[in-house]
Amino acid sequence: MVKINENYLKLPGSYLFSTIARKVKEYKEANPAANVISLGIGDVTLPLPAAVISAMHRAVDEMADKSTFRGYGPEQGYDFLRNAIAENDYKARGVDISPDEIFISDGAKSDSGNIGDIFSADNVVAVCDPVYPVYVDTNAMAGRAGDYDEKTGMWTNIVYMPCLEENGFLPQLPERRPDIIYLCFPNNPSGAAATKAELKKWVDYALENGSVIFFDAAYEAYITEDDVPHSIFEIDGAKRCAIEFRSFSKNAGFTGTRCAFTVIPDELKIGGVSVKSLWNRRHTTKFNGVPYIVQRGAEAVYTPEGREQTRALVAYYQSNARLIKSELAAAGFSVSGGVNSPYVWLKTPDGMTSWEFFDELLEKANVVGTPGSGFGPSGEGYFRLTGFGSAENTREAIERIKAVFCK
Ligand code: PLP
Repeated sequence: MVKINENYLKLPGSYLFSTIARKVKEYKEANPAANVISLGIGDVTLPLPAAVISAMHRAVDEMADKSTFRGYGPEQGYDFLRNAIAENDYKARGVDISPDEIFISDGAKSDSGNIGDIFSADNVVAVCDPVYPVYVDTNAMAGRAGDYDEKTGMWTNIVYMPCLEENGFLPQLPERRPDIIYLCFPNNPSGAAATKAELKKWVDYALENGSVIFFDAAYEAYITEDDVPHSIFEIDGAKRCAIEFRSFSKNAGFTGTRCAFTVIPDELKIGGVSVKSLWNRRHTTKFNGVPYIVQRGAEAVYTPEGREQTRALVAYYQSNARLIKSELAAAGFSVSGGVNSPYVWLKTPDGMTSWEFFDELLEKANVVGTPGSGFGPSGEGYFRLTGFGSAENTREAIERIKAVFCK
């Protein structure tokens, strides 16, 4: 008889955002007059840059004409986009990445989830705690995580690296040696960023131990500080031990349009096998490419107008995040993140749990955020607020939080 992949049965329900939605719905039903503001959004809210829209309109017209119509494109992405990325995201920062080391895809979520396909199921995986849940769940699906322990909220075979206040919310080198290390900087959910020196420590560790780093740089555009690298490949030796995931979602508003890319350098070899060639095999077998129209839109991000418009989008969210951080810090809250990130990580006051604070914030301030415990055990006692809302709502939400909690 056919058998299912039983690893899926081990997955706990994904309750975080559904529980938030249910609680908000119930509250609104009981209090129809309440004007509830969400600072919990992890999605962008402003429209695509005008340069992207024009480029996509032009591409749509090309698709309407027999002489310029395109069918299947190269699975790895069109050269025009791979070249633009190599030139602008890497060469301009002094990093030599060739276009054929870049794989265009429909998302950093899919890529960071799918990359495990080309690695053995008996590798030991390390993640930061709190963590973007995709890394953990996709390893659980692949049978790499062991069993889920309800009591601890952890998988038995995953190495959790607690990111705590005393370490600036950065992971420390783990006691148990992992084969695969997921790093996400600037971090979701904590907003913490890793300096060059910090990333060098991880690259050296991976090279020494024969590990590979999966580096998620989905929030790279939010970096404001000079000593924070935009790419792990700015670190010497990283090309021999790292894979990088990037996305157009949070810089250019592509969350609903879908375009991202993964970089696997030629130098990354495991037991003499090129990881790039394995990924190329997987990608070309299971994926038929991002739509031409969307890739033309992504290419426009690198034009002078596209850059300026993209910068303005990011600046808008950054300014919301900065305001949340500075106002709440001035009001006596313990807050971090928000400097190189759209995310602000708030320590819940008076020892409240993340969910107790959620309820109190919803009921007394009519403001919604995301409980830190939803991202892993070390997120307990923390709360994620985001800069992705409107500037007006952000200001109003901050005033309400201050009114309730800072008497
Ligand atoms: N990586 C991280 C850390 C994220 O927070 C997100 C989205 O929230 C993604 C990846 C998803 O990116 P994409 O929209 O390209 O799939």
